[in-house]
Amino acid sequence: MKPAPFEYVKAVSVADAVALLTEHRGDARLLAGGQSLVPMLNMRLLRPSVVIDVNGLADALGEIALQGDAVAVGALVRYAEIERSSLVAERVPLLRHVVAYIGDRQVRNRGTVGGAVAHADPTGEIALVTLALGAIMRAEGPDGVRDIHAEAFFLGPYTTALAPDEMLTHVIFPPAAPAFRFFERGRKHNDFAVLSLAVVGRPEPDGTWRDIRIALGGVHDRPVLAAAAARALEGRRWDDALVRDAALLALEDCDPPDDFRASAEYRRHLVPVHVRRMLSALAGGHE
Ligand SMILES: Cc1cc2nc3c(=O)[nH]c(=O)nc-3n(C[C@H](O)[C@H](O)[C@H](O)COP(=O)(O)OP(=O)(O)OC[C@H]3O[C@@H](n4cnc5c(N)ncnc54)[C@H](O)[C@@H]3O)c2cc1C
Repeated sequence: MKPAPFEYVKAVSVADAVALLTEHRGDARLLAGGQSLVPMLNMRLLRPSVVIDVNGLADALGEIALQGDAVAVGALVRYAEIERSSLVAERVPLLRHVVAYIGDRQVRNRGTVGGAVAHADPTGEIALVTLALGAIMRAEGPDGVRDIHAEAFFLGPYTTALAPDEMLTHVIFPPAAPAFRFFERGRKHNDFAVLSLAVVGRPEPDGTWRDIRIALGGVHDRPVLAAAAARALEGRRWDDALVRDAALLALEDCDPPDDFRASAEYRRHLVPVHVRRMLSALAGGHE
């Protein structure tokens, strides 16, 4: 299929992009890597009257930089640049790790961190990692800049807290607990995940674990934190029984969908099995 007709405009600055969004409030879309937007236009799932190309804004939005002890990733940073960044490898290794699970080389060469987060696919790896690491989304709109915590950013399938006249400019990763494990189950590589899972924590010298975060994808209408499970593990020494019970608690924070990829029942089966395995792997220091 071909898209419905639209006007194509190139933004020359972030302020210009925001002014264009404001002018066409709700009827314009930003074009970043185009890896999700273009198929949606072609399938006529979206019919904006204006498409605003922000690819010329790499000077403002294409950097990965230290901001204090946080890592600020510009919205236009491509997945391939995440793969190559030594700063990301050193400071946000989970982000780098998950990029290998996204699409193929072409998708990773074009797709952007900002586009992935704004697209808010409930199965998307980058959205999951922003939750797991407690990232902050920086948005710019007609009233200025505001920061939105990942927990408050994803509102539903393909729906975020961004207003129609706001654009995402940066995703900021504060220092996070150093140990992580990631797991993904899909029908095949490149398909939407049936379950994705990131667990993060800090092992203390006394054998306890702190700063536990467990993020789940593909099992709710948005990526979610398994908060009850994390609370059960926080500040404690883990044994098999505790880990098994905490993994079951992960079901409290998700309501898996039923679709042609997997039944809700199958997804509910997968959640505690894989949360337990990933927690055990984290504690045991193995895959
Ligand atoms: C074959 C294929 C396989 C894929 N596999 C995966 C996968 O395994 N995992 C995965 O997570 N994704 C996958 N994707 C999607 C891919 O990751 C997209 O790149 C990503 O979802 C969107 O990033 P983008 O830069 O291409 O954004 P675009 O497609 O340009 O935009 C996506 C949406 O975000 C909005 N947007 C973009 N930038 C901003 C901004 N700065 N501020 C506000 N709104 C903005 C756009 O208006 C649009 O609504 C796949 C895509 C393809 C084609």
